[in-house]
Amino acid sequence: MKTKIRNNTFFKYLKEYKILKFKTYFIFFLLCINNNSALATSYFSASKLLKNIINKDDPTTYKDLNFIKKKQSKSFDKRYGEEMYTATFFIFEAKYEIGNNVQILVNSEFGSHENIAEVAIKYSKMLGKLPIFFRKELKWIIIHGPWVDKSKCTCRWYAFRNQGVYIHTEMVNEEAEQEVLIHELAHVTIDPLYYNSVNEIVWTNAQKQDVKSISRYAESNPLVEDIAESVVAWVAARCKKDRISKKKYKMIVNTIPNRLTVLDDLIFRNSQYPLICKK
Ligand SMILES: [Zn+2]
Repeated sequence: MKTKIRNNTFFKYLKEYKILKFKTYFIFFLLCINNNSALATSYFSASKLLKNIINKDDPTTYKDLNFIKKKQSKSFDKRYGEEMYTATFFIFEAKYEIGNNVQILVNSEFGSHENIAEVAIKYSKMLGKLPIFFRKELKWIIIHGPWVDKSKCTCRWYAFRNQGVYIHTEMVNEEAEQEVLIHELAHVTIDPLYYNSVNEIVWTNAQKQDVKSISRYAESNPLVEDIAESVVAWVAARCKKDRISKKKYKMIVNTIPNRLTVLDDLIFRNSQYPLICKK
């Protein structure tokens, strides 16, 4: 009898233990789901999440750089404020194997002609590593130097739709420069195809269906930064899957599947050369 009671107690204990164990696993499972969704927005930006997806081993379509002239002109320079400021620029024309030429304006603050040419060539080559389609609306890039005190800097790189990109050298880490450039070119060429256009609904529907965003930057600026951030993730998932972890790949395709489909429809209709990309 005693044994029976003990057995009963034991089985009761065992049953409770199993329930407890199940509950523990279940809570752990929920935490994992929660962690996964937290991962989707735990990175400030896509370029922080996806560094070096394009690197020195990638080919460039860059061919040549022609010096045009030295000229004083007005441009934005966020080191000084939100207005336009006059500076002297060395103006070049970068030529590519395929795709339109791009005007490269380098601030004379870089000093010697050698330094200025080096800066112009570096960013011209970087542009040539990205899909030809991304350069479609790009007319120019303006290259300024970094802030003297980089720790106080709020200026990174910025872009104007259908126009060009402002670069502040040294304000973006070398390992993320190509990815930030993808982000900026997306502002120039892809933003205007959706934001404030008849196709805006295509993007906003995808945003609603996906619910979450690829980064905190995209999440807090859904009408300005979401496309540029998602395009960086598209390049990683469709063209450089071998350079990102399986975890990051899964996170991208599970977090923004509908946005990826919109970008598939657009980018696969155009040239991704020199990248090789597939669904
Ligand atoms: Zn941006």
